[in-house]
Amino acid sequence: MKFDILTLFPEMVEQFFNFSIMKRAKERGVFELNLVNPRDFTLDKHKKVDDTPYGGGAGMVLMAQPYVDAYESVEKFSNSVTVMLSPQGEPLTDNLVNELAQYEQVVLLCGHYEGFDERIREIISPREISIGDFVLTGGELPALCLVDAISRKLEGTLGKIESAEEDSFSNGLLEYPHYTKPREYRGIRVPEVLLNGNHREINEFRLNESLKRTQKRRPDLYEKYIKNSF
Ligand code: SAM
Repeated sequence: MKFDILTLFPEMVEQFFNFSIMKRAKERGVFELNLVNPRDFTLDKHKKVDDTPYGGGAGMVLMAQPYVDAYESVEKFSNSVTVMLSPQGEPLTDNLVNELAQYEQVVLLCGHYEGFDERIREIISPREISIGDFVLTGGELPALCLVDAISRKLEGTLGKIESAEEDSFSNGLLEYPHYTKPREYRGIRVPEVLLNGNHREINEFRLNESLKRTQKRRPDLYEKYIKNSF
């Protein structure tokens, strides 16, 4: 997998890959990272990448030329997808992450300020993805969310101890609660069933907790799960 991230703030993005699981995955070569700064492609002598909106209004709009040229400089694989991070895009879900993890290359366009000149969309025709119904100052965090979520699905990112098999959404439910040492903390005891070593009972307990939790917190997922189970 190769991630090409177009961002005006490559230093901000780079930092993310200096820690923990993502650092290890990158070092192991699970994915390759290429950061491209549209500012390096501007033809403006002041290296301008944004300008005021036609028609007036607040904020600055990202200019088409530096973004399109930066995008076109990225070598595309045959099995590649281009994603524009945008609050107006399709909502990011585990299913969408699984779909994106099938590609060999994901090119990510991070916006900033008021967002992109519309012609960037028209020329590049990216898939637009949103990480939720709220607005952030830039596409860097959303891009990193996507890269992190996709990487977790790639072989070699998670070790056995970090396995994603039972994570929330993988079977359509929210995951069951976890406990670790000590057995008792502030008078709250770890459920007895988790201490008895009976794996059938443990699995039953966990599935029940998963179902209860999903029904309470995400009735939409619960309904879907129940419908698909029959
Ligand atoms: N004016 C735009 C609008 O109302 O749709 C919002 C622009 S936002 C301030 C700047 C950039 O942050 C966007 O171009 C996008 O790349 C990123 N961004 C903000 N919120 C996002 C979200 N929920 N999901 C994905 N990207 C987001």
